[in-house]
Amino acid sequence: MSTATHTTDVVVIGGGPAGYTAAFLASDRGMSVTLVDEAPRPGGVCLYRGCMPSKALLHAAKVVNDAREASVFGVSFAPPSIDVERLRLWKNDVVSKLTNGLAQLTKQRGITYLQGRATFADNRTLAVDMTSGSESAAVVGFQHAIVATGSRPSKPASLSLDDPRVLDSTSALDLEEIPSSLLVVGGGYIGLELGTVYAALGTAVTVVELTKSLLPGADTDLVRVLKRCVGRVAKAIHLETEVAGLTAATRGIDVSLRDANGAVSTERFDKVLIAVGRQPNSDLVGLENTAANRDGDGFVVVDAQCRTAESAIFAIGDVAGEPMLAHKGFAEARVAVEAIGGQPSTFDPKAIPAVVFTDPEVAWCGLTEDEATAIGRKVTVAKFPWGASGRALTLNRPEGFTKLVVDPKTEQILGVGIVGVGAGELVAEGVVAIEMGMTVSDMRMPIHPHPTLSETYGEAAELFLGECTHVYKPKKL
Ligand code: FAD
Ligand code: NAD
Repeated sequence: MSTATHTTDVVVIGGGPAGYTAAFLASDRGMSVTLVDEAPRPGGVCLYRGCMPSKALLHAAKVVNDAREASVFGVSFAPPSIDVERLRLWKNDVVSKLTNGLAQLTKQRGITYLQGRATFADNRTLAVDMTSGSESAAVVGFQHAIVATGSRPSKPASLSLDDPRVLDSTSALDLEEIPSSLLVVGGGYIGLELGTVYAALGTAVTVVELTKSLLPGADTDLVRVLKRCVGRVAKAIHLETEVAGLTAATRGIDVSLRDANGAVSTERFDKVLIAVGRQPNSDLVGLENTAANRDGDGFVVVDAQCRTAESAIFAIGDVAGEPMLAHKGFAEARVAVEAIGGQPSTFDPKAIPAVVFTDPEVAWCGLTEDEATAIGRKVTVAKFPWGASGRALTLNRPEGFTKLVVDPKTEQILGVGIVGVGAGELVAEGVVAIEMGMTVSDMRMPIHPHPTLSETYGEAAELFLGECTHVYKPKKL
């Protein structure tokens, strides 16, 4: 047993999107940096068991769906033959390329990478149980620490059954086999994205959601379009339904479902995916040995500079609060490192984009229409239907729309919501518009390329102004 001792300007705990971004930036700014993660290479949930593997599989699902839809315009393919092993290898290869790239970038910057589990000993010292290398332990003395330990799937006791056929997002992404039937518990991001994957691969997917809508948090009209499309590929969607119990049977998992009226029915599924949210990894990092605090949901409490109650310790990414999205972590990483460098940076975005990579995609940013209603803020909504978009028709995808949530007095764009193919790429323009304080006239001004879905921004702005070229809806004079 030997213990290595390091001293460093900045130690970053967690090599996910928030952690590696902070480590790279701190190094680029001349600080000595130590990055600690349990994995052999940086990447975190996002690269190993989140964003990237799920998007690789969603791409495969989209190809399957597009091929099926092509018969509408006279191009027919035979039903797909799915080589699960090959699909899994391809997805894993995408992950390897990305994590190897991060390992190289870590090395190029001269960052000390420690593979092991870190625990705070006190406000200036970290203890690491090493899982690789010649030492079994390391003690890291630091000037500043950044906690970026991420999150893990929530496992409510009512849904726990110790059976390999009950999956979480990590095991569902392993894609061991394609089950005949799958119950997805939770109609949020993960449930809908992974449900989309399995449905495209041939599984009969049933979705159970506790609340009265899929994707709580997204605007009702966006979700309505998505639900219609998911309804066509899923076997069933049960809203306001609770899982009352899971029982292992020889040929599947028996699930008792209780609907809004209290009626209980039992159905058997080959597999069950639990996707009911995530919880922060703030409990196993020794924060109790420091002055940092956690809130009632387990998130580390930070100020606008991502600083905890202990001024030398920062927290960023999923562990520091909602929304648990990689790009929120990227942005917080910059703020924390700039604050460590003495800059007056704060984390105060007007628009953090949310994208659900279903088919169609749903994306939004800034103030939603439903939020405006809930807080009693008067807004005007301009919604351009993609049925009037030439590009959407050439793609055979007219079901979407682009909407602007606008302040009626200043005509400033406060929010953007899009449902439709490619919504995730399109929403970026909305984020820029909101962050730059653009008005609808500003949005109408730039020439969008034709024929593209990006034109729907200009057309939505024109709708607000009562002079939309492709929709006749004159403003009341
Ligand atoms: P994480 O990525 O969770 O990384 C934390 C790291 O800390 C881990 O590597 C962990 O091993 C390490 N760690 C924890 N405790 C310790 C310790 N004590 N010592 C050492 N190391 C420790 N977000 C998006 O923006 N877009 C998407 O498309 C998207 N898709 C997703 C799909 C799925 C299936 C899932 C599960 C999540 C998805 N997310 C997506 C969310 C995204 O993955 C997270 O928001 C993001 O990974 C959070 O980054 P992070 O750096 O805060 O933490
Ligand atoms: P989620 O919060 O998005 O959705 C969980 C859903 O489960 C909610 O709709 C909730 O009402 C429902 N629910 C809760 N308890 C339930 C129960 N007992 N029975 C039935 N339904 C129940 O959580 P998630 O889907 O697990 O994803 C976790 C987080 O990961 C997301 O919030 C997001 O931050 C991140 N993520 C992002 C992306 C992306 O950006 N595309 C993709 C996947 C995950």
